[in-house]
Amino acid sequence: MRRNASSLAARRFDVLVIGGGIHGLAVAYDAAQRGLATALVERGDVGSGSSFNHAKTVHGGLRSLQTGDAAKARFSICERRALARIAPALVTPLAFMMGTTRKITRSRAAMRAGFLLDAAIGFDRNAGVEPHLRLPAGRVLGRGAYDAAFGRNARAGVTGVAQWSDYHMPESDRLTLAFARAAAANGAVLVNYAEATEAVTRGRRLAGVRVTDRLTGDEIEVDARITVNATGAACQPWMERFGARPDFPLLKAMNLVTSRPAGPVALSAPTAGGRLLLIMPWRGRMLVGTSHSDQPAAPDDLRVYRGELQAFVDEVNSAFPALGLDAAEVTLVHRGVVPAYRSRRGALGLLGHHRIHDHDQDGVAGAVSVAGVKYTTARGVAEQVVDLVAAKLGVRTAPCRTGTTRLPHWEFGTVTGEVERARADAGGVVDLECLDSLVATHGTAWRAVVQRCAEEPALAARLVPGLPVPAAAVVHAVEDEMACTLADVVVRRLSIGAASYPGDAAVAAFGALMAFLLGWDADRLAAEIEAVRDFYRVW
Ligand SMILES: Cc1cc2nc3c(=O)[nH]c(=O)nc-3n(C[C@H](O)[C@H](O)[C@H](O)COP(=O)(O)OP(=O)(O)OC[C@H]3O[C@@H](n4cnc5c(N)ncnc54)[C@H](O)[C@@H]3O)c2cc1C
Repeated sequence: MRRNASSLAARRFDVLVIGGGIHGLAVAYDAAQRGLATALVERGDVGSGSSFNHAKTVHGGLRSLQTGDAAKARFSICERRALARIAPALVTPLAFMMGTTRKITRSRAAMRAGFLLDAAIGFDRNAGVEPHLRLPAGRVLGRGAYDAAFGRNARAGVTGVAQWSDYHMPESDRLTLAFARAAAANGAVLVNYAEATEAVTRGRRLAGVRVTDRLTGDEIEVDARITVNATGAACQPWMERFGARPDFPLLKAMNLVTSRPAGPVALSAPTAGGRLLLIMPWRGRMLVGTSHSDQPAAPDDLRVYRGELQAFVDEVNSAFPALGLDAAEVTLVHRGVVPAYRSRRGALGLLGHHRIHDHDQDGVAGAVSVAGVKYTTARGVAEQVVDLVAAKLGVRTAPCRTGTTRLPHWEFGTVTGEVERARADAGGVVDLECLDSLVATHGTAWRAVVQRCAEEPALAARLVPGLPVPAAAVVHAVEDEMACTLADVVVRRLSIGAASYPGDAAVAAFGALMAFLLGWDADRLAAEIEAVRDFYRVW
């Protein structure tokens, strides 16, 4: 998968997607797979927006049942299953537990009824799913089970515990990248660091957008019959450019990645203010989510301030009183600006349903906007977007197969099975710890990395003794995974920095190799290192 900005100007596309988050990538993959000529531009790195910052949970939509939204629950269950089918080695089951109380909506009876309904709506939740990914139905257990799970965080007044299962994503950024790769493998032109700046119109018809290549400064006009706005937090300004008046505010949502070791299950408890928070394991650490602002946020309101962080930590400690979390234990704050709604009483909450908007109704032909609300359902939302795009183009396309086709490099069932194959085929070329970790992050593309090591044995060496990453993985990221900056490599491709700053020595070593590969001078290297440090900064 190579970045080739000049190919954006080479032809007229059926579909141009603005935004390379999970929604844009899933739209590009779906459109390309159905045979539409497709391009995607992303102003930063693919998957660097909210699609990096989520809480890694593939939700089955259990909470939608509390509001009686069975259709939404069904959609979430089907999309949770789709991810398990197309990338079984990139999701793992995770048990969630929440105390039941005498309050009617949180009572044992209500939770039992909810689980019965969930099991009925999700009767086929495990169809076509690998055996180790089959999810049990939810169940209600007694106070003893609650005490055992919550330990010193157990509270008086709790009557038992509700336990259900979803998936989580240990290598979420590799899942996002797999969608990018799938789009490219089906012929889509993907260009990161390419910012859409202006709409190009012909009469009342949108004919594409003007794009700035942020690596070269070149201006490119991309000609497209339909443009899909999948810009996440920037969705509204683009909707306005396409003639609409978006009616939803935005909120800033956050998770905390901590240095605390995590238990095996996710625990949910209410804060003093009544908001449900979760502490869950992710890569052996405790991840806490999700808090959101009470006031509307601007699309680029992504800085996290010390006061905000402390307020979130205080909320966490009110939900889990024995935790005693300290802000100093927070290694990274996930943050994203996401669509919201305002209740009749004026309170803001996260928008529950995605929006797909056809700008024909605003008098602008050739444009569709999509505001997604969950990573989990992005594939299914993309299918709906491409159905609409095909209808607008007036073409019959091949059927959508993105829900059943395994993603490139992730065709196998379990990481352990693939590790055995890798050890049998390539043991001795790189050290075994590096090989195992390559399989977990790269899927079958471990072969391409190992091939580079076989051709140039110096590349089999680790750049930093404590990190099981051979130098060849950096070369692979640059040459085959469109990594353009040091943060792309450190944070998203090799995930050594996905949960915390990997340390000055690692950043310097990875930076030196990137500088060599991309011809950076000392000033550029210093700026790249500073950008990595900035990524973890709390202001
Ligand atoms: C804290 C938090 C926790 C969450 N937890 C979960 C969870 O556990 N499970 C779940 O399913 N969902 C979760 N979500 C929701 C999920 O992360 C989002 O719904 C999803 O990632 C949104 O994807 P997207 O593609 O719409 O947006 P994004 O990932 O933000 O992508 C939009 C992209 O558009 C690009 N862009 C913007 N303007 C331009 C332009 N002019 N030109 C080119 N590109 C542009 C941006 O750079 C960005 O990369 C969470 C969200 C947050 C913030």
